[in-house]
Amino acid sequence: MKAGWNFDTSYARLPELFFSKVTPNPVRAPQVAVLNKPLAAALGLHADALQGEAALLAGSEAPEGDELLAQAYAGHQFGHFTRLGDGRAALLGEQITPQGERFDIQLKGSGRTPYSRGGDGRAAIGPMLREYIISEAMHALGIPTTRSLAVVLTGETVMRETPLPGAVLARVAASHLRVGTFQYAATWGTVEELRALADYAWERHYADADIGENKYLSLLREVVKRQAALIANWQLVGFIHGVMNTDNMTISGETIDYGPCAFMDTYNPETVFSSIDRQGRYAYVNQPYIAVWNLSRLAEALLELFHEDQETAVEMAQEVLAEFSKLYTEHWQSGMRAKLGLFGEEEQDKDLIQQLLGMMHNDKADYTNTFRALSFNRPEETAMFGTPEFVEWYRLWRERLGRQQESKEEAYQLMRRSNPAVIPRNHRVEEALKAAEEQGDYGVMERLLQALANPYAHSPEQEEYTTPPAPSHLPYRTFCGT
Ligand code: AMP
Ligand code: MG
Ligand code: MG
Repeated sequence: MKAGWNFDTSYARLPELFFSKVTPNPVRAPQVAVLNKPLAAALGLHADALQGEAALLAGSEAPEGDELLAQAYAGHQFGHFTRLGDGRAALLGEQITPQGERFDIQLKGSGRTPYSRGGDGRAAIGPMLREYIISEAMHALGIPTTRSLAVVLTGETVMRETPLPGAVLARVAASHLRVGTFQYAATWGTVEELRALADYAWERHYADADIGENKYLSLLREVVKRQAALIANWQLVGFIHGVMNTDNMTISGETIDYGPCAFMDTYNPETVFSSIDRQGRYAYVNQPYIAVWNLSRLAEALLELFHEDQETAVEMAQEVLAEFSKLYTEHWQSGMRAKLGLFGEEEQDKDLIQQLLGMMHNDKADYTNTFRALSFNRPEETAMFGTPEFVEWYRLWRERLGRQQESKEEAYQLMRRSNPAVIPRNHRVEEALKAAEEQGDYGVMERLLQALANPYAHSPEQEEYTTPPAPSHLPYRTFCGT
């Protein structure tokens, strides 16, 4: 049975500046380790046939009559502008689904490309499985994200600090256009090439949006809208991306690049997980500000297209960028109200939210479990229970619930829809990776994925995944996925 590939790679029709052809890098013994059957079905692919296509999914061979591409981009990495590109990834093609949707199928870890610089183009099994778990968890949480179709073992070893099994992740994305793709166009392309990229991005992601009087300014506005919603969603679930470089911010508004990311257990706005983020540039509390910084780099890249007079263009861009903060705050506040079961809006809601977060911070409360406890009216399970501040807060909150037309039961239902029971907690993710890497046992990961697949179910089977890690002396550290 054929796998059902139906490629139409529109990206290859862009000017050549934006990509390079990649010669497939054969690997010794490609073997499918994990396959996402529901996602395969949604893409119009047959999971059974895909099992037999490990070589294709490893980037060992190109699709029939087609070529693999690596995309060119640039990026500000921790504030420093660098020429980048897919150094260890290749675009297999754009899959057109039976519903007519278009998705990039990208192979991450498929070997060297013209953009590899000093790197080996390869990836180790652990980080690829980690991206699989966390991206699928994000999707299940209802947050826009790239997804994971498969992880394929290469049968080869990659050299990191120690030799590790190599793997390739088949990543599915609305596109891989990044803020950094536009920076690349603005820095190394002509204005026509920049315009071609902007037209392409508009068609691919915003064809249904209001084009307004100025298409390119509208493009910036639409990206600002999607990113404001995305970052608010991250904050609401306690997700820390860890490496919000401009090359890791998509034009589609999807979360991309699960490297040193992690979900927060104990609530602390200053949380940083990434071992390389020594200054805390990408700390939880900074994420909305970094998003605006990155979007400003997008605006700069597009400036020539806004208006021929550059001073006017800057003013136009600033006006659009200023919308981020309002959109972000609206989205975050309405999300927080839902987390607390509040329908409608009252002036004091902001204080109620801030007071709760303040107590959670002081009392080192678990972020997810605090909201979960409140969703079941089990205040005794929160870290703040019994303090005079909490007694007072709880009274005010119950009064607020009592003032709304909706019943308490409706409020709790709203809360349970808005507060996940499970997030991919680091200790459980580590445990799943360890079993897979060391024993070839994928069962632990499968069970974790199952619990994460329906985070708002609050089912008894999920109970065991709700326990925070045991307190340890060392804070959890993540490393850039390599
Ligand atoms: P990231 O930090 O994951 O966003 O990656 C930054 C850049 O480094 C991208 O251009 C990657 O393609 C490149 N890169 C990361 N790992 C490797 C590797 N093992 N070989 C070649 N390039 C890599
Ligand atoms: Mg990246
Ligand atoms: Mg990465």
